[in-house]
Amino acid sequence: MSRVYNFSAGPAVLPEEVLKEAADEMLDYRGTGMSVMEMSHRSKAFETIIKEAEADLRELMNIPDNYKVLFLQGGASQQFAMIPMNLMKNKVADYIVTGQWAKKAWQEASKYGKANKIASSEDETFSYIPDCSDLPISEDADYVYICENNTIYGTKFKTLPNTKGKTLVADVSSCFLSEPVDVSKYGIIYGGVQKNIGPAGVVIVIIREDLITEDVLPGTPTMLTYKTHADADSLYNTPPAYGIYICGKVFKWLKKMGGLEVMKQRNEEKAKILYDFLDESKLFKGTVRKEDRSLMNVPFVTGDKDLDAKFVEEAKKAGFENLKGHRSVGGMRASIYNAMPKEGVEKLVEFMKKFEEENA
Ligand code: PLP
Repeated sequence: MSRVYNFSAGPAVLPEEVLKEAADEMLDYRGTGMSVMEMSHRSKAFETIIKEAEADLRELMNIPDNYKVLFLQGGASQQFAMIPMNLMKNKVADYIVTGQWAKKAWQEASKYGKANKIASSEDETFSYIPDCSDLPISEDADYVYICENNTIYGTKFKTLPNTKGKTLVADVSSCFLSEPVDVSKYGIIYGGVQKNIGPAGVVIVIIREDLITEDVLPGTPTMLTYKTHADADSLYNTPPAYGIYICGKVFKWLKKMGGLEVMKQRNEEKAKILYDFLDESKLFKGTVRKEDRSLMNVPFVTGDKDLDAKFVEEAKKAGFENLKGHRSVGGMRASIYNAMPKEGVEKLVEFMKKFEEENA
């Protein structure tokens, strides 16, 4: 068996232990004689899987009782519409646009009401997080929206915006479970799981109960109404069962690792190795304002497109995969999610040093 160091932004590396365990259970899940893939979502065995997954996630994130946990489909992108459809009672929402994903969410919300862009970092290619301490929050805003970690540009909100009492909605797709969060500060926290938690096809929505109502925008489909899924404990229709099963295993892995405090320390250590090198390198440089750097996605460039391409190609040959930057920004990006071992980052830096010596 030969596994590469996979720096993909998503779908991304998962803990080897989890994959091995799932492989062992592939043909016969715990004496049922079938794979979880082949199992009724109404079966006892699956009921245990989804209940345990939720309980473990609640424990990991310390989710208060007045929040529901929903396992949905449609990708994080479907939430761009589902959020305004369910929350825009006044038809007004404020968006902080710090990257492509927030921009897409803002554009989508504009179909349903007045979506105000109250701050943006587009003027400097989304390389920083704007000051969010005193924003022009709309008096009648139904919510304030952020993308907490910007997968493409590698920025992260280190402090949450001051929403002046308005409900905060956050896309945490690329920083989910990377560090502890105070759930009570949000109305909705959601993310696609395909970066830090599991296979593509599952979106987890953690939503405060008072935001789950029948009073949604006219025409909102049953499947896009939070209440449908909340009332049915995510089993209104066939859920992405196998994906939820893998997420459940990752939650157990995280608990075994020591929980989110430990993940945060590990992620800080890993990111520091790479950022310290970028700060002293004569060839490579990070593209993000230092205080806004993400622990998960680290973009960098040489400043020379041909050299960037050469680096990506040679890195691939050396067993470092998916280091090419997002197609909208170019350069390189190393995504170093929870499951990327420290050794992977150390080896990448070693390789970068060697490349620098040979090409500077
Ligand atoms: N939000 C963020 C922060 C992302 O990084 C991505 C995908 O990379 C998305 C949303 C879109 O997710 P999906 O492809 O699941 O719709």
